[in-house]
Amino acid sequence: MQNKKIKQILIGTNNKGKLREIRDLLPKHIKTHSTAKFKLKSPREDGKTFKENSLIKSKYFSRKTNLICLADDSGLEIDLLNKKPGIYSSRWGGAKADFNKAIKRVFRELNIKDKNWKNKKIKARFVCALSLSFLNEEIACVLGTVEGYISNVAKGKNGFGYDPIFIPKKRKKTFAEMKPSQKYKLDHRYQAFKKIKRFF
Ligand code: IMP
Repeated sequence: MQNKKIKQILIGTNNKGKLREIRDLLPKHIKTHSTAKFKLKSPREDGKTFKENSLIKSKYFSRKTNLICLADDSGLEIDLLNKKPGIYSSRWGGAKADFNKAIKRVFRELNIKDKNWKNKKIKARFVCALSLSFLNEEIACVLGTVEGYISNVAKGKNGFGYDPIFIPKKRKKTFAEMKPSQKYKLDHRYQAFKKIKRFF
């Protein structure tokens, strides 16, 4: 399996933002399939790390479709919050994955930790574990990160999730203020993708 180049793949996510981004990263000669096409629900993510959760998804979706699956598990780590929300990033948005709600929770928790946080540089990073599996077999599993800071107000309309409050290091704009093509070249998913792209 490892020596052959992959020709078609299932992208193991029900998150439209991730689906769009992963599709844009993959070489154009690869035929992609979405979980929506197979009407698949996401599995329970009961791993303790990004890598474990990514593998739970890639193996589960591969078993359901018989296709090689590329899955992502990702999230935001905020140092002042002891790396929360971390693997719970999507769960902070509640049952409907409401990102405004998740961002409000970040601001609320930062206020509890430090009333003066808005005047400080709040270090954070996005982390992405990308895994490739076929049925129950792991082909590869890698991690990518992008370091940055939390903006004290939500800014920008692009992207998804925590993009409006994340400013990558050495930049002034949040991910949500950047064009998608600009964000993709910097972010955690791209850093992980560089480590796995030899399979495509
Ligand atoms: P999961 O990997 O599907 O469990 O969820 C990851 C969650 O982390 C997403 O729902 C977002 O809230 C957040 N997240 C991951 N990657 C990004 C990103 O590139 N931008 C903004 N938020 C992200």
